[in-house]
Amino acid sequence: MNANTGKTAEPLRVPPYVKSASKLKPMEFTDSLTIALSKGRIFKQTLPLLAHAGIEPLDDPETSRKLILKTSQPHVKLVIIRASDVPTYVQYGAADLGVAGKDVLMEHGGGGLYEPLDLRIARCRMMVAGVPDADLDRDRLRIATKYVASAERHFAAKGQQVEIIKLYGSMELAPLVGLSDLIVDLVESGSTLEANGLVPLEQIAAISSRLVVNKASWKMKHPSVIALLEVLHEAVEQTR
Ligand code: ATP
Ligand code: MG
Repeated sequence: MNANTGKTAEPLRVPPYVKSASKLKPMEFTDSLTIALSKGRIFKQTLPLLAHAGIEPLDDPETSRKLILKTSQPHVKLVIIRASDVPTYVQYGAADLGVAGKDVLMEHGGGGLYEPLDLRIARCRMMVAGVPDADLDRDRLRIATKYVASAERHFAAKGQQVEIIKLYGSMELAPLVGLSDLIVDLVESGSTLEANGLVPLEQIAAISSRLVVNKASWKMKHPSVIALLEVLHEAVEQTR
């Protein structure tokens, strides 16, 4: 019995076997797993995938103040943190696994992590944007962005000298008030850009959320991590 819900905890639903190097072998899900997630779109869109693995949180992070959520699987807990902190928690092993946007991973650098699965959720594009008649070839353009590393890499790859101005939000405002020539931001439909008289100019990367795994957990908890990975992969394929 689960003390919190009175429901009998069911074992994690896993495929009858997962592929190992040379043969198929039966798997047991035994290790404890901590999964790092951010509130909002990533949490909402990861829930159905986790449900496919038989993992359902016992609290709603949008209404609960709890930062650690038990789930229907006694071995599995969720930690709710800022989106940009997910790679850090996983890198240091404070969480075994996490879900992070490719944008966040590009900024973090991905050290200490494996990135085995594209969950195909929270999809958008990282774009360079500006006013419609922006002169992209001018010397030392000023670029306002939250994505400093990605912006630097993008313009360096084009051999273009730019000055990056770090912002934490509302990037669309910067070109309107003369803070920058261009911005680098995430674009989904483009309506926020359009509402501010800006246009997308260049794509830097297609963005979606990825499952990330701590490198030590990958080794030490291999059967459980692989089992979870397999069911999540199956869930992603089914929602394609
Ligand atoms: P915070 O709001 O805590 O500063 P954040 O803005 O990164 O962090 P979210 O808005 O929840 O948090 O975004 C989480 C992830 O979802 C981003 O890292 C990105 O991968 C993706 N994302 C962000 N904006 C969009 C969007 N408009 N459409 C689709 N996916 C998006
Ligand atoms: Mg946001």
